[in-house]
Amino acid sequence: MESQSEVESSHNSSETTNVAVHSWDDLTEGQQCCINWAGDQDWDLIKGYAKEHGPEVLFGVYTVLVDEDEWSVVSVLTAASQYGNAEMVKLTLEAGFDNKEAMFWAAGISIFNSDNSTILRLLLEHGLDPNMDLRFEGLWEKCSKNLLMVAAEKGHIDQAIALLDHGANMNKTMAVNGNVYSPLTVTASCGAHDIFRLFLTRGAIPTTDDVFDVFGYCLKACKGEHPNPSLSRDVAIKMVATLLHLGKPDSDVVRDIYNYAEPSRRDPTIFNITKHYLQGRPFCCYVCEALTAKERDKLLMCPCRNVAYCSRSCQVKHWREHKVHCRGPLNERGESEAMVKKRSKTGKGAAAGGADVGVAEGADGTGKNGKKGKKGKNSRGKKK
Ligand SMILES: [Zn+2]
Ligand SMILES: [Zn+2]
Repeated sequence: MESQSEVESSHNSSETTNVAVHSWDDLTEGQQCCINWAGDQDWDLIKGYAKEHGPEVLFGVYTVLVDEDEWSVVSVLTAASQYGNAEMVKLTLEAGFDNKEAMFWAAGISIFNSDNSTILRLLLEHGLDPNMDLRFEGLWEKCSKNLLMVAAEKGHIDQAIALLDHGANMNKTMAVNGNVYSPLTVTASCGAHDIFRLFLTRGAIPTTDDVFDVFGYCLKACKGEHPNPSLSRDVAIKMVATLLHLGKPDSDVVRDIYNYAEPSRRDPTIFNITKHYLQGRPFCCYVCEALTAKERDKLLMCPCRNVAYCSRSCQVKHWREHKVHCRGPLNERGESEAMVKKRSKTGKGAAAGGADVGVAEGADGTGKNGKKGKKGKNSRGKKK
């Protein structure tokens, strides 16, 4: 758009319209008016004024370092974000507003306030760096969280997804006063299991510190000693299962935690899961991470014994991927149980679908599930 490029070029030619100032008096009169109106949510007044006097009146940014613990940015953009006015945020950005501090602050407010990512996405689309670190920008030495950590802390998953979609780094740690925080540990500590799982699904790699911290928080939570009540014992157990299942941490690190936790700290469920992990045995449904099968105590085991499921439907969901790896238990002819069964029925060698029957057999012995399995196989066979 023409008006936008005009604003950009005026900005590049060292106009100070969009540079943050540290004194209220350094703002133009028009900028002061607009900031005051934004505080009163007089958005129509601002729009009319900007139309009349040009977009620069929207560009005032006033930063205040209240003390070393408090840093604040005042602007039309941040106020619009504070009041959840996405339309005003859009209008301001499209007018050419591009002050990085204010954009970071507006994003932080929006992430903190709600799990609606509309405003955050607008900011990201207008050049906000999802990995911006105020310390490296020389803006606020005491900053201890990046935007992803704010989303993690608040349990706002849509905001986290928006950041990841724009390239936020899930493995970026922040060291503060001798403590190292990562998005994974912040999420675990706040009990936001869905975001913890999201990070691991999107490829976060748990460090040794992460593994120690997550186990530490979760074991404390099981004893009711974790400060954040969102990390209940139930959530803590899910957290550990997800960490082991998707994060696949080094078994030596896990063994160390397992061996050295004091007996009084050992939660029976967490230690059962951990033991299975160290023995290379499945401990949760491969698809949904449930620890027990629906309507049964134990998970349904694939004949290969490498994966388990909570239900036939989870097994079916995973079969397309698993059939490539699934060998089932092999006899002396190198055939799985499923292959033998198929051969004895059809007189032919087993096809890829063979092990599928095998999985249904995994549920055998319980009557109902076994029958269901066979029924499923037959009906699918007909469709083919
Ligand atoms: Zn499942
Ligand atoms: Zn298998």
